[in-house]
Amino acid sequence: MKNIKLKIILFLSLVIVSVSVIITTYNLYYEKQENQRRMSEAYDHVYRTYNETLQDSIRFYSSRAQANLRSPGVMEAFRAKDHDTLHRLVTPRWEVMQKENPWLVVLQFHNGDGSSLLRMHQPDVYGDKIASQRSMVAYVHKTAQQVAGFEEGRQGLAFRILIPAFDQGVYVGSVEFGIAAPYFTDKIYRFAGYNSFFFVNKNALGTFGRVAQPISVDNHIGMDIPSEFRPFIKQYALEHPKLENGVLSYRNQMYEVNILNTNDYQNKPIGAIMFIRSTNDFNAHIRHLLVASALIVLVLIVIMSIGIDRIYTYITEKMSFQKRYAQMILDSVPSPVIVTNGVELIAANNSFLGYLQYDNLEAFKKEHLCVCEYFESGDTDEYLMPTRNDKLWTEYMIEHPLKIHKAKITINNVTTTFEARLSVLKVNEETRYVVLFNDISMMQIQTMNDPLTQIPNRLHFTMVYRHLISMARRAEKPLTILFFDIDHFKGVNDRYGHLIGDKVLKQVSKLVSQRIRKSDIVARWGGEEFILLLPDTEIEEATRVAQMLRKTIDEEDFEEAGHITCSFGVATLESDEDGEHLLSRADELLYEAKSNGRNRVIS
Ligand code: GH3
Ligand code: MG
Ligand code: MG
Repeated sequence: MKNIKLKIILFLSLVIVSVSVIITTYNLYYEKQENQRRMSEAYDHVYRTYNETLQDSIRFYSSRAQANLRSPGVMEAFRAKDHDTLHRLVTPRWEVMQKENPWLVVLQFHNGDGSSLLRMHQPDVYGDKIASQRSMVAYVHKTAQQVAGFEEGRQGLAFRILIPAFDQGVYVGSVEFGIAAPYFTDKIYRFAGYNSFFFVNKNALGTFGRVAQPISVDNHIGMDIPSEFRPFIKQYALEHPKLENGVLSYRNQMYEVNILNTNDYQNKPIGAIMFIRSTNDFNAHIRHLLVASALIVLVLIVIMSIGIDRIYTYITEKMSFQKRYAQMILDSVPSPVIVTNGVELIAANNSFLGYLQYDNLEAFKKEHLCVCEYFESGDTDEYLMPTRNDKLWTEYMIEHPLKIHKAKITINNVTTTFEARLSVLKVNEETRYVVLFNDISMMQIQTMNDPLTQIPNRLHFTMVYRHLISMARRAEKPLTILFFDIDHFKGVNDRYGHLIGDKVLKQVSKLVSQRIRKSDIVARWGGEEFILLLPDTEIEEATRVAQMLRKTIDEEDFEEAGHITCSFGVATLESDEDGEHLLSRADELLYEAKSNGRNRVIS
């Protein structure tokens, strides 16, 4: 029962653990998916913001260029390569545009011959052959087509938009706007919500190579990185040899670092935008999830175990009540009752234990394996023995259901005869025998003994006789019987009365009983005639016993009745004769003794 409880708890624990493992695994998988989804969403958002900002800037500054060129005197000055006039005319607009976009770092007019006409951001430097150093400038001169892209220049890396200028259809040069990288990273922050940084490929840095406070990651250099993010990037560079997607733990916070590659106007890689996204520490999250799952599992197992324990206690209480109830029923039976499985004693009632003088079943079981240890053999085969014909006593009882079974038990020198009745109970493949011991000692005495002389009566004799004959045959041992009859007993009655006659009968019975062996049996055959059974006794020995008894009676003083004699007939069982025949032979011999003068033994 305890085992079953443990098994149930183990099984349910296993179920709980399995379910929890499945749920946790699913959760982890789902969260990983979710994380990936969020990542690609963020990537898309940043990518769109970046591209749209580029396109907007191109549109915006090409229209600003046209507006500048159309303003009075500008085209004339441009055409005349008049640096000072152009500077004067454009200055108010340049100031407005700078306010409009603080990251606008370049406004330059290029002459068609490749020289620089005017740098609004650096008005004192002009006339230099800039087209030979700046591929985008050379390109616009060559194609007379608008071009835009990141390129390095005197002002460092910037997103440059070069717009061709035509005077009545004739190409005169180009107008260049340059926007610093933070403009784009600011837009990304405003529209997508992520901090981002511009990185330029070292190979793309050409002639100028002017980067303020560069931070290198692999072959990339971070541009205009705000001071608060410089330590972050430095740490990233330490942990990641390449500029690539990854995670970084920085000041107790996890960040996801994403890289978006950027190209120049010729679609050649020029650098990358890095954007960072604070995220949960996925590994820590997994750890928490696992710990939480383990805790939940533990709590569930504890709750379940307590529940099972309660149910178990309830059931066992119920069962113990049933057990007590069954015991009460057993105890209510006044006769000894036991329940056995054939081998082991399972229950016994108070009457049984009280009779055997034990306080409880355990005390009994400590000293005895079987009730049958008490069984004594009787004078017939009705008496139960621990085993008979290699069968346990219970099996023997089952195999002989019509037979009367008796158990003879002696406690404190008092022998009790029980009639044992067995009932078979089959419960769930298990067999239980209920054996009721009914005390038939009184009845036994009453029905088996002669009330006058208290020696076995003829009925008792008949049963014992049958048993002894079969025993003698099986064991091939002699069995001798001895008939004797009081001589002239009628005369005793006539002379002294029936009461004195009865007294004589009693005295003769007592005398004979005292003189014979324990294994011999004397019974009253009827009237003043007795029979004696002498097992394992040859005729000679039996004759000697008969002579001894004859002599004893002959010499006894029967008080009122005076002198009494008996005649004896002695016969031994022949190998081929039955009990009836033996009786008639003994009777004949007794008759012969009578005819031959009485007070004698004929064998
Ligand atoms: P024998 O020597 O031939 O045996 O003569 P007997 O007188 O003993 O034989 P019989 O069969 O003629 O008489 C038996 C008598 O025993 C008759 C009967 O009254 C007496 N008797 C039988 N049973 C009892 C009894 O229980 N008590 C008494 N007092 N007498 C009994
Ligand atoms: Mg007689
Ligand atoms: Mg007689």
